Amino acid sequence: LFISFEGIDGSGKSTQARLLAERLREAGRETVLTREPGGSPGAEEIRQLLLTGDPARWSAETELLLFTAARRDHLERTIRPALKAGHAVITDRFADSTRVYQGATRGELRDTVDRLHALMIGAEPDLTFIIDMAPETALARGLARRSGEDRFEEMGLGFQQTLRAGFHALAEQFPDRCVRIDGDRAPEAVAADIAAIALPRAGL
Ligand code: C5P
Repeated sequence: LFISFEGIDGSGKSTQARLLAERLREAGRETVLTREPGGSPGAEEIRQLLLTGDPARWSAETELLLFTAARRDHLERTIRPALKAGHAVITDRFADSTRVYQGATRGELRDTVDRLHALMIGAEPDLTFIIDMAPETALARGLARRSGEDRFEEMGLGFQQTLRAGFHALAEQFPDRCVRIDGDRAPEAVAADIAAIALPRAGL
């Protein structure tokens, strides 16, 4: 069982990914909790490159190749071996983040995003939780925990709104695997909704 969490920055998806991993483990299911960009030693190195330094030193195309390279490594070294061993895999972001961040925000790149995905990645999660949240709330949360380490600082409300719309469109494009969850509630309430959907899918 391969599950991804997606959403705008500050939506609480990382917390929810962790809470679901805990639920699955408590229920006796071995679960690998991972994230993107990163999730394997090589991909974590690429993450450092992507999230630090001057983002303008690469073109959008070069950046897309780096995200894809990181995902390929993550898939080869972490996700596929875990699934093969029969473990559940929960990832905080996957290809949908690239469709939205690199695709929807730079419209002309979307076709390239899809072609690269088909060529180098191919895999899709069985289940994707899109944590939906008002950008104002998410931005306030995100800024509250900002570390100075990633490009989030450059992103304002308008950008968050574009991303939110991008995730909405994705949920409509992939209705079989995407579930939209209202993230503007207490974390425990959000987690309960997610567990009610995910546990049966894990046979629990
Ligand atoms: O989810 P997390 O906060 O770890 O993501 C780090 C940052 O990476 C995000 O704030 C976003 O700016 C960026 N990102 C991106 N494209 C992706 C995935 C993440 O620009 N495909």
